[in-house]
Amino acid sequence: GRCVIALDGPSGSGKSTVSRRLADALGARYLDTGAMYRAVTWAVLRSDVDPQDADSVAKVAAELDLEIGTDPHVARVRVDDTPVETDIRGPEVTAAVSAVSAVPAVRKLMVARQREIIAAAGWIVVEGRDIAAVVAPDAELKVYLTASADARARRRSAEYATDVDATAADLARRDRLDSTRAADPLRQSVDAVELDTTEMGIDEVVAYLRQLVAT
Ligand code: C5P
Repeated sequence: GRCVIALDGPSGSGKSTVSRRLADALGARYLDTGAMYRAVTWAVLRSDVDPQDADSVAKVAAELDLEIGTDPHVARVRVDDTPVETDIRGPEVTAAVSAVSAVPAVRKLMVARQREIIAAAGWIVVEGRDIAAVVAPDAELKVYLTASADARARRRSAEYATDVDATAADLARRDRLDSTRAADPLRQSVDAVELDTTEMGIDEVVAYLRQLVAT
């Protein structure tokens, strides 16, 4: 049968690790929608387009050949046949991704693509910001992961080997941009299970979600 698990939340909430681990435990596919917005951003920067120039950004997004894998064990993201898995995690892309993902035409393209991928999968864990509210409102399970700003900054800086204070400032900036944009879809759908992971380990979160899936 088909089963879609929507996992939304801000960066540093543990979303990526939890989503991959959950998909692995369930034998499900895995879709990282943030990686898609990051790949578009990579293409925008490569084309020397100003990330604030919405029309040009939309044009880049419409013309690019984006490939995204759904194996929870193998990160595979390609733009016009160039592997970009590493580059899309870099500071340049991270600094510009909020502006690029705020362009309505970009979101429209990405959401359509995400729905195609979901429709072609059996079981799939989809992580992002607008999965439960926009991409897959009929998902069988919707989870919203949160964590305190401190915990999120600590996790991110450990993951990327960056300074905690700089990471905290960057997260705060992205949170603000991601939540105040004009065409902002409702991030937290009303019927999502909200889970605060500040005091929880990854194993604990995954075990809890597996239990939710089983019931
Ligand atoms: O999850 P990640 O940090 O990789 O997401 C990068 C950025 O992509 C977010 O800061 C947000 O601007 C954007 N994004 C989005 N919608 C999604 C996933 C990510 O707008 N579903």
